[in-house]
Parts: sequence; structure tokens; C-alpha cells
Amino acid sequence: MRGLIQGRQLLISTLIDYAAEFHGDTEIVTKTVEGPIHRYTYGESQSRAKSMAKALAGFGVKLGDRIGTLAWNTHRHFELYYATSGMGSICHTLNPRLFAEQLTYIVNHAEDKFLFLDSNLVPLVEQLAPTFESVEGYIVMTDEETMPETSLPNALCYETLIKENDDDLEWPSFEETTASSLCYTSGTTGNPKGVLYAHRSTVLHSWAACMPDVLGINSRDTILPIVPMFHANAWGIPYAAAMAGAKMVFPGPHLDGESVWKLMDQEKVSFTAGVPTVWLMLLTYMRETGTTLEHVKRVVSGGSAVPRAMIEEFEEKHDCRMIHAWGMTEMSPLGSVGTFKAGVGDLPAQERYDIQVKQGRGIYGVEIKIVDDDGKELPRDGVAFGNLLVRGPWICDSYFKGEGGDVLDADDWFDTGDVCNIDAQGYIQIVDRSKDVIKSGGEWISSIDLENAAVGHPEVAEACVIGVPHPRWDERPLLLIVRDPGSQIGKDEMLTYLEDKIVKWWMPDDVLVVEELPHTATGKLLKSQLREEYADHKLPTAGEAAE
Ligand code: ADP
Repeated sequence: MRGLIQGRQLLISTLIDYAAEFHGDTEIVTKTVEGPIHRYTYGESQSRAKSMAKALAGFGVKLGDRIGTLAWNTHRHFELYYATSGMGSICHTLNPRLFAEQLTYIVNHAEDKFLFLDSNLVPLVEQLAPTFESVEGYIVMTDEETMPETSLPNALCYETLIKENDDDLEWPSFEETTASSLCYTSGTTGNPKGVLYAHRSTVLHSWAACMPDVLGINSRDTILPIVPMFHANAWGIPYAAAMAGAKMVFPGPHLDGESVWKLMDQEKVSFTAGVPTVWLMLLTYMRETGTTLEHVKRVVSGGSAVPRAMIEEFEEKHDCRMIHAWGMTEMSPLGSVGTFKAGVGDLPAQERYDIQVKQGRGIYGVEIKIVDDDGKELPRDGVAFGNLLVRGPWICDSYFKGEGGDVLDADDWFDTGDVCNIDAQGYIQIVDRSKDVIKSGGEWISSIDLENAAVGHPEVAEACVIGVPHPRWDERPLLLIVRDPGSQIGKDEMLTYLEDKIVKWWMPDDVLVVEELPHTATGKLLKSQLREEYADHKLPTAGEAAE
């Protein structure tokens, strides 16, 4: 029997409509690409999103067409999220930090019809435009006064389009399963793959983000999303903030410690989100200038593990709670969040930090489990670690255009490629990426744990651990270190240093000092390249095979 309840569709346009109707005066503030601060409200934002949707329709953009954005976190980018998805096209966010060939591949693979870009990215796009096969026109996200001279074909000015189109528009209605936005994962191996979000998944994900035990986004918040809008939709914050009617503050491309701190201070930011690198810049700035955070209460960090010292410094010097979260582009991206369960807040600080360094606990909407290589579920004892599988209504079920083939098992579980343990309270701890974990004699060694131990040495600037083939143990760890300038640290000193920090059988079989380590465009260690490079490295222990 069918329930007698309305089947109104969960559409992204309803979020901005709600914000405009019930929080119409709430501010959206941007430190613009050009520099000055721009202020307006949800009411104006909705009106301009409608004007831009009309402009797109005027260009012949239809349901399902992909519209590229190459842009920083600004009010215009925010409007575009709603203009594109609202009218039924797909907002395809592109990462300007990718290598040129990757951008060409992604734009052509997505078949973007139009490309919106920030004014400071014009030179980059001018170089790439001849390689883009499907783009019919370029819209520079600026006003007429600051519109740069450009050789881009069919280049238009964003503000001119807004001026030329009124906001007399009812958003169209369509199935909530319709695609709404597209984001490619950077992919450390193979080509980037597109994750295609839907209206329904985005609205459900926003609801989750607003829950008190998730990000707790609410109308009293002033939110500064530093995580880029081209990185998994800024973790869904531009949608969740509209659902809650929270004040938004956008940093534009100004992500250095000083700019971020000033914006937080001037706008009384209460909640912010980003990756550890950004927090490091902010903390360094505050240490150097003796400044502190007056208003920020919650700092969400994800993308890579947060060092414990960072959690301590935020809390003890700035009275801010760091909330560690884990997720991935394929998961919209929220998977687990480190909010406290009952009792955790009362623990002594050091015990509490033990929990806060973990990647958080499961949230409603994301089922999680850990399994061994045979698919057998492992216990949640905080010790056993295995492949982390997830499923839920905002997790991808395949990549755009079927790239990568089937990615779900028979029961819909998606393998995250992460390896973790789960404790009895449900907090997860990422131990490694499954392709990076070192499989030694049937046991697993966490490359991340070894790296963390190695960088604990005051003269080690960066460390990377990879598994290299070993005749007896299958694989054994090889540690590569980059030294601080002037340091003479070598293999013996490094191994002695590690002795009381890791279990004996995890001890790297060799240590090499290198000038630098390769990284992906998103700053992660490019271990696949190192594995290839050192595939033939003869470990000093390899002779054990003969024993
Ligand atoms: P990409 O794969 O394009 O770099 P993602 O943002 O999708 O971009 O990366 C997701 C991966 O980042 C996760 O699978 C995990 O390995 C890592 N990650 C995300 N959050 C954390 C975290 N809090 N701690 C450790 N690793 C994390």
C-alpha cells in the first residue's frame, strides 16, 4: 500500500527558494577575485541565479547539458550552483590547480557546452581553449569595468548577462533523480573519473550536513568554506547553508593565513571548513602575529589526517573545536564526522584528543563496514583494520560514462580504497589507502603510521613509505625521507629514532634520503610513481629469502 503523502521532488532549486523566502536578508559576503569585499543577501542571490538561468536558457542550454565552472569560492560561483542545476543543466566544477592535460581531458570528456571562469584564470583558459572540443562560449565572472581583454572565442561578461536578463522565472520541475552536478576525482592512477551527483542525493546530503551530530549547520552560523567549491562541492556547504539560512562568507582565491584570519575576524565567522594545509597557514600566521580567533567555534578538517598538535593548538590557544571528518568525492563527500557522543566531552583533554584524531563516526545515511581481502567482515574493536566499504543514498553507483566499469559489489557496497579500523563507539581511524598498505607476510603495515613516526623527527621535512617486493615477505617497507636544510640525518639515525615508536616488524627494511618527493595536483604523495621507480630496489634484507 502506498503512503498517502505528497511526492514533491527534492530539487536543488528548493534550497535557494527557501533561503530567499525565510532568510532573504541574511548576508553572503565575498572577498572578490579583484580584491574588494562584496556583500548582498540570499534574496538578491536567488534573483541573480534566476537571471543567469534565463541567460543559459537563451543560449539553448537544456536539461542534462554540462556547464563548466573554473572558479574560486565567490558569490557568483554560488549563484551558478543554483542557476545551472536549478534550470536542469549540470554544474561541472573544474579544479584550476590540475595539470593542463587533465583539464583538457576533463572538459572534453564531460563535453562542457559553456565555461564560466574567474577573471584571473583567463590566461590559463586562453592557452587551453584551442584544445576544448565542445565549449561554445566563455563567460568571465566579473563586471564590465574589470572585464579583461581576451582572445577567448565568444567571451561574455557575467554581469552583462545578469543585467540583460530579468528574474521572472519559475524553476522547472523534474525527477529528483536528475543529474545536478559533476566533479572529477583527481585519480592518482589512470584518467580522472566523473562523479555525477543528483538533486535528490544533494538535498539528502544537505539535510545530513545540517544535523547537530554532523556539521550542525544552522541559521545562527556564519560559515567560511575554505574548501574549494571545485572540490566535492565544498563538501556540500553551499547547499546546506541555504537549507539552514546561514550567513556565508567566501574567500575568493585569497587563502593565505592573513587573508583568512582577517575575513574570520571582520565577519565574525563561527564555523569554517578546509584541509589541514590551510589550517597550518592560519595557525602560523596567528603565532607570528600574536592574534587569536574570537568568534570561530567549530573548525571542520578533512581531505587528509589532522595532526594531533593542530587539534590541541586550536583548542588550547583559540578555544575552537576541531572536528575531524572523512569522506571522498564519490560520497558527496561526507562519510564520518568527529562530533562527540555522550560522555566524550567530559573526558580528560588527552583522552579526548585520542578520539579527535580519529576520522569521526558514522553518520545516518552512510552505512559502513570493514572487511578483509576475502570480503569477511572484521570486528569493531579499534584494532582490526581492513578495507572500508560504504553504501547509501549519496554514494556514487558508477562513474560518468561508465568509466572504471562496475564499482559496486552484489550488495551495493562501494569500496572506498581506504583501510581503517572502527572502535566500539563507532569512531573510524583511517590507517592507509588500500593500494598503499604494505602487505608483509600476510600481515598489513600502515604506510601512514610509519610516515607519521618518521616526520616526528625534528630534521625530517617529509617522509614517504612504500612497499617494495621482497622474496620472502612479499613486500617490505622502504622509507624515503626529505631532510631539512642543513640536516645530515641518514639511515642509521632514522632507524634508531623509530625503534621505540613502532612495533619491530614494521621497521623499514631500508631508508633512502631523497631531494624531493612527487605529489599529485591536489598535494597528495604520488606513491604509484615511487612504487614504479623503486620496483627493482634491492632491499638489504632480501638475502633472507635464502635462509
Ligand atoms: P582525490 O581522491 O581527488 O584526492 P578526495 O577528496 O575524494 O579527492 O579524496 C578522498 C580521500 O582522501 C579519501 O579516500 C581518503 O583517502 C582521504 N581522506 C579524506 N579525508 C581524510 C581524513 N580526514 N583523514 C585521512 N584521509 C582522508
